[in-house]
Amino acid sequence: MTDMNSDEFFMREALRVASEKGTDPSLSPIGSVIVHEGKILAACRNQVAEHHDATAHAEIEAIRQAGKAFENGELRGATLYSTLQPCGMCTMASIWSKVGRVVYGAGRDDVHKMYFEARHVDTLAFVAKAYRNDITIEGGVLRDECARLYYRPWDKVPEDEQGNI
Ligand SMILES: [Zn+2]
Repeated sequence: MTDMNSDEFFMREALRVASEKGTDPSLSPIGSVIVHEGKILAACRNQVAEHHDATAHAEIEAIRQAGKAFENGELRGATLYSTLQPCGMCTMASIWSKVGRVVYGAGRDDVHKMYFEARHVDTLAFVAKAYRNDITIEGGVLRDECARLYYRPWDKVPEDEQGNI
């Protein structure tokens, strides 16, 4: 289940859950799906505003839900899909969760800098430099459809709407 068609299938599910409450960028429509042996264990949307919880990013919510479904906090062999390249927190959580693959839609260069915490540190480097050598990260699956949900690099976003400052 690692061919491009299945990646697109599961990314569509991530897009669906991301858009559940609307597609305006101000709603942070980020979705994450975790799949194991072709079965969806979790499909979650960003819940930061609803839960008043800065850690309730879609990927973290999905890791929590998948662990319950898997009855194991180590999600070995699973793939985590996200509509947006995971932030540093979620990339690190992915490494600790033991998923084997991280697949994202829109990449860092497709969206506003507000979605990332560091100027020159790319979250891809976290995976490349991890002690684990059984995890990969790849992007660009349904890139344009995913990028349309977010503030773009050229958008003028008011500072009070920028989550990283
Ligand atoms: Zn995140």
